[in-house]
Amino acid sequence: MSETMVAPGTSGAASGGLQQVDVAVVGAGFAGLYCLHRLRKAGFSAVVLESGGDVGGTWYWNRYPGARCDIQTIDYSYTFDPELETAWQWSEKYATQPEILRYLGFVADRYDLRRDIRFGTKVTQATWDETSGRWLLTTDNGASVSARDYIMATGCLSQPKPPEIDGVQDFKGEIYFTGRWPHNEVTFAGKRVAVIGTGSSGIQSIPVIAEQADYLTVFQRTPNFAMPAHNGPAPADRAALLNSDRAGYREQARASMAGVPYPQQMDVSWQLTDAERRARFEKAWATGDLVYILSQLWADQAVDAEGNALVADLLREKVRSIVKDPETAEALCPDDHPFGAKRPCLETNYYATFNRPNVTLVNLRKEPITAITATGIKTDKRNVDVDIIVFATGFDAMTGAIRAIHPITGRGGRSLSDVWADGPETYLGLTVAGFPNLFLITGPGSPSVLSNMAVSIEQHVDWVVDRLAALRSAGFTTIEPTETAQAGWQRHLADCSMVTLHRLANTWYTGANVPGKPRGVMPYTGGVGPYRGICNEVVDRGMLGFRLTGPRGAEQCNDGEIVRLQPDVRLVLNWLAEMNLPPIESMGAQGARDFVAQFNATRPAGRPVGEVLDGALPAGEDMLKYRLYRPATPGLHPIVVYFHGGGWVLGDEQSDDPFCRDMCRRTNMIFISVGYRHAPEHRFPTAAEDGYAAAKWIAEHALELGGQPGPILVAGWSAGGNIAAVTCQLARDRGGPEIGGQLLLNPVTDCSTEHPSYTENATGYFLTRSLMYWFKDMYCAPADRGDPRISPLRGNLKGLPPAFVVTSEFDPLRDEGIAYAEALAAHGVPVGQLKARGHFHSSFTMVDVIITGVSGREQMAEALRMFAKVPEAESTAPQVHAAAS
Ligand code: NAP
Repeated sequence: MSETMVAPGTSGAASGGLQQVDVAVVGAGFAGLYCLHRLRKAGFSAVVLESGGDVGGTWYWNRYPGARCDIQTIDYSYTFDPELETAWQWSEKYATQPEILRYLGFVADRYDLRRDIRFGTKVTQATWDETSGRWLLTTDNGASVSARDYIMATGCLSQPKPPEIDGVQDFKGEIYFTGRWPHNEVTFAGKRVAVIGTGSSGIQSIPVIAEQADYLTVFQRTPNFAMPAHNGPAPADRAALLNSDRAGYREQARASMAGVPYPQQMDVSWQLTDAERRARFEKAWATGDLVYILSQLWADQAVDAEGNALVADLLREKVRSIVKDPETAEALCPDDHPFGAKRPCLETNYYATFNRPNVTLVNLRKEPITAITATGIKTDKRNVDVDIIVFATGFDAMTGAIRAIHPITGRGGRSLSDVWADGPETYLGLTVAGFPNLFLITGPGSPSVLSNMAVSIEQHVDWVVDRLAALRSAGFTTIEPTETAQAGWQRHLADCSMVTLHRLANTWYTGANVPGKPRGVMPYTGGVGPYRGICNEVVDRGMLGFRLTGPRGAEQCNDGEIVRLQPDVRLVLNWLAEMNLPPIESMGAQGARDFVAQFNATRPAGRPVGEVLDGALPAGEDMLKYRLYRPATPGLHPIVVYFHGGGWVLGDEQSDDPFCRDMCRRTNMIFISVGYRHAPEHRFPTAAEDGYAAAKWIAEHALELGGQPGPILVAGWSAGGNIAAVTCQLARDRGGPEIGGQLLLNPVTDCSTEHPSYTENATGYFLTRSLMYWFKDMYCAPADRGDPRISPLRGNLKGLPPAFVVTSEFDPLRDEGIAYAEALAAHGVPVGQLKARGHFHSSFTMVDVIITGVSGREQMAEALRMFAKVPEAESTAPQVHAAAS
């Protein structure tokens, strides 16, 4: 039953009394309007408090000339009501601000929303009252509000940041902020105008102002990437796609990465020729769609600095081809951030505007503004007198509207500003520990500004209102995330931020645009679809991470972290689970080999190296194939003898091709991947003996192979890690070859399955316990399992080469790898360890798929360089993913 005591809009609300509602919502933009509609439909009483004079939120305030959306309007619309979708027709591909505002007004009227919105009303304070279990909101206009639940639909970009330039108050002319544009018309004709700032708002308004003003001077601190919008009618192909299956189209948007239905691009840049890349780029340039260019060129553009630089170069080429003055063109070319890491812009005549005789660009990197004077703007090189200054200087984004607008006091009198002093912390970007019944729509830690906001807003509102309804049915009155869940979410956010390049740019995404603001990637970078899946999973797992309480001591708390896997590992495992594959061990040896070959054919091609050479080497009576990967740099290189994974049954010298290429590039060393013989045709100890024979032969032929003479290094993954470890023991016992170091990646070191990781990670992480049983049965008889050539952990560990042992948290083999590292160390062997949090058995060999594996491979490369005594500078791979796993 509703708790409304005083209906909004009644004298109680207006006269300064107390308005009691179930839910108070702040903000009447896209989010607040939908929220009110959903709350009403769910039977809650609600009031929306809005400081503006009408609905619209960001579109109410940002009325500057040229303002438009930059997600195609057919995607930037509500989807909750199919009738609404057909009742409104957009006139353009990218609607103007007035049209979007009309749309939001149309929505407000259609669902009769205005009667529950208090316009011109600012919240001045919000306080959680422990005793009543309600929020009390005081306002600057009319009644305070008492509400069970408090929803902030305040937008991510609604708090303009101050100009931060001395002397603004001295200026005698007109001053405007794009984020607070007046409702009356601003006349530029006959005026000298300055625009400070070249983000989306500046880039949209500059061409329009230039057409009207007598003279326009643009003050640019950082050039931004921009591409033409090619505005006009909605593109026929997108409209046809939508109209052919509206529900399906919307569903795809919800499952996509950015909230716009584009497929996942699979081709990687190095698979494409220059001409092919250029053709794709030209198509994107002609398409005029940010989501398209950000996602559809090549798979590595958003996750890898090299792949990204290829796009950035082509974009800079465009700028130079449009802007006639070379110095101005150069100043307009971004060079301090990867494309997409800072919000790119859509433009209409922006670059061409700088060819106009009445426009000058002032490059603040070369001549910073020193002050604003009574007559204009002073840089350290000149005075520019103007009549109007337009500040397009942006927002205190994501947290500004939540933190700065009014004090929010939660449990125990703690203020949100204090709690977030070092940066925002949330659970799911929706809730905050210590602030019961407070919900943030598209808050920090959710996809929000990295997505089509319309899709993200609907998802958040639906989730919140559905939860409130479920709570009500279950008799609970408060909901609050636990500290454990919130800390886990922060860790997951940090993990996600390692996947994209956003962390490499100083932007409002990271708080870098506001002096003194704590730094960190604020939006969720893991994608809209995966995020939605996580929010749903929280519910499916009994409101994991939330404490629910109700009358008479009712309480439910299912504490825990919702995501413990690395984000890309989670995606891969979900994808594998969806494929519903039969267990590999049920396929038989040949079937399993065929499956692996098929599986490997779908992965991204390995990166180019200097040379790839196939050969064969003797092992007893047989010849073993090998594949040699040589770095592109001249000279003799240290040699790493590599043994592939596959449980002694599967794989070959090519099956870990991407890994070998990547490590060859990172280490600047020759990698020789050896095709040892497999079980069940060749059972124990063939693989171990083959490994040793290969290492010996390679060491003896190092010079012929183009490698440095002297100690070789050995490396291997999984069963290959077992062979590498065994090779070191055999080499020590049989008088050579000399081995300078061993890299053991998720190695089998013990034929026992007693280690707890065998139970903890028995299923669900691709390599299963049952598969390991099968591998071991294929390779060796139970009687052999104590032999150090299969269980090196049981061998003599003294005098072995230094080791770097990598284990993954979600791997059945985790504990035996750790045990081996510890045992080596106990026997005086220098050992480095990487215990990879959130990773699974294949994390490091799924190169260019598990992007969070990059930092682990960097550490492996560093270890190999140390073993070979090679200085770090000699590596050739990019070092952009520098964070530790
Ligand atoms: P913004 O992207 O933060 O751009 C602000 C600009 O002002 C930057 O060029 C910044 O330079 C400059 N600046 C800030 N303080 C300055 C100072 N003290 N001196 C000199 N220059 C200064 O802000 P915005 O253009 O308002 O856009 C913000 C976001 O709103 C966009 O990224 C977008 O997400 C959204 N938006 C969307 C649309 C649309 O959908 N069409 C339109 C407008 C805005 P630095 O880069 O050096 O800090």
